[in-house]
Amino acid sequence: MSTPKTTMADPVHLTVPLGEPDTMAGCGECLGIAVTRANARSVGDYSKVSDANVVLRTHLREGHGAE
Ligand SMILES: [Zn+2]
Repeated sequence: MSTPKTTMADPVHLTVPLGEPDTMAGCGECLGIAVTRANARSVGDYSKVSDANVVLRTHLREGHGAE
């Protein structure tokens, strides 16, 4: 058989894809970031959604001691 191999290797992730971080209830900063993320998604600005997730993860880690 000479069928070319078209299957590509899995992409290398520079950051582990964790899905979207959750906000902590009662935290205004979490809420603010979540609102920014929701607004960005509502206008289709997915790079801004991604940025908001990075900001939120950093805040969760530094502000709430999350992993
Ligand atoms: Zn928070």
